[in-house]
Amino acid sequence: MSISQLARSIADSPTLRLNEQARVLREKGEPVIHLGAGEPKSKVPMDAIRSAAAQVTTGEVRYTPTDGIPELKKAIIRYMEENYGKFVSPENVIVSGGAKQALSVLLTVLVNPQDEVIITTPYWVSYPEMVKMVYGVPVIVPSEDGRFQPRIQDIKASVSSYTKAIILNSPNNPSGAVFSEDFIAEIVEFCEAKGIYLITDDIYHKLIFDGKTFCPAYRFVKKDLEDSKIIVINGVSKLYAMTGFRIGWTVAPKKIVEVMINVQAQTTSCPSTISQVASVGALNGVQSGVESLRYTLQNNRDIMVQELKSIDGVHITKPGGTFYCLPDFRAFNKSSVELCHFLLNKVRVVTVPGKEFGMEGYLRLSYCGTVKDITEGVARIKWALDPNAPNEIFIGDRKLVRDWL
Ligand code: PMP
Repeated sequence: MSISQLARSIADSPTLRLNEQARVLREKGEPVIHLGAGEPKSKVPMDAIRSAAAQVTTGEVRYTPTDGIPELKKAIIRYMEENYGKFVSPENVIVSGGAKQALSVLLTVLVNPQDEVIITTPYWVSYPEMVKMVYGVPVIVPSEDGRFQPRIQDIKASVSSYTKAIILNSPNNPSGAVFSEDFIAEIVEFCEAKGIYLITDDIYHKLIFDGKTFCPAYRFVKKDLEDSKIIVINGVSKLYAMTGFRIGWTVAPKKIVEVMINVQAQTTSCPSTISQVASVGALNGVQSGVESLRYTLQNNRDIMVQELKSIDGVHITKPGGTFYCLPDFRAFNKSSVELCHFLLNKVRVVTVPGKEFGMEGYLRLSYCGTVKDITEGVARIKWALDPNAPNEIFIGDRKLVRDWL
């Protein structure tokens, strides 16, 4: 069997791999605590369920227009108005099978072989692989050590004549950092002046804590949308706990959306009909679920940060949003992959190695689970790493004795 060079160069998804490992262990009855998850535990909004159920019971579930059903595009246009203060037309919107497919179709449309796409650390694992899949070159730009804030001067220094786009993700997976308004203003100005596309992945945009709010890049755009370089990616996965529905979208100048429609038409035809209808329900329905998720996550964030601070040697930057944090574990092990396997093997806690996000020595921990998972998960990590912790611990009904410190 011969596999293409391109396919061989693409890494597997570490989070999906870890989910599978955790599932197998759980099936064997192991008391696994999952701090690696990438999806909220809350329920899908009732309005989404009702809409989807009503569609299914008609017995008519057919192809839709490639760029999405008009009702969903209308809901997204209204969403743009409400959340971004931006008026867009249906020709500026294309619905895809999740934000992931939206990004992948977009990159297919923008990137020529050898074109460079700037990605700041810490980054969502899929960005570099997606760029490689369209024969582009990911250019990784480190952010400010400790604060996870990208710096405009570092980005400017990485721009070359091949730079096609910059991808930003704020609030950020995996650090939870919310980028400053000053930085957003500067990067918008820079991209518009240089003719570089600025892709903002806003998938966590309402999951921001401490009374702060989202700052859309559009706020600083001086040009008309059709001449602008800003492209927005968003979706229902995280805010509405609808990861399994696979609906995301892109808002871009018409000439880009037009070509994205061609690419999508030749690959998946259209996003799932039922999921689109469900997403109309979510976007147009009662919105209180989003705020209650945000509130729960903020509380979980506080508990996670407090527990982590109790481990000597762990450095934690308080996340401003999302449901992730990225503590620095370099004092214990410089290899995050090794540390991640150690924690899973010894104390059955799933974490994600920072190396996958361009942050070796760090671990990504999620706080979208229960408070019990957070406190017990971090207690187990502390027990495994801290020589001052008592020598014994109960995990499930099993007593463990530490023999490695
Ligand atoms: N962007 C980021 C930053 C994400 O964390 C994720 C999901 N992990 C996605 C995009 C993909 O979202 P979707 O489920 O809509 O494909």
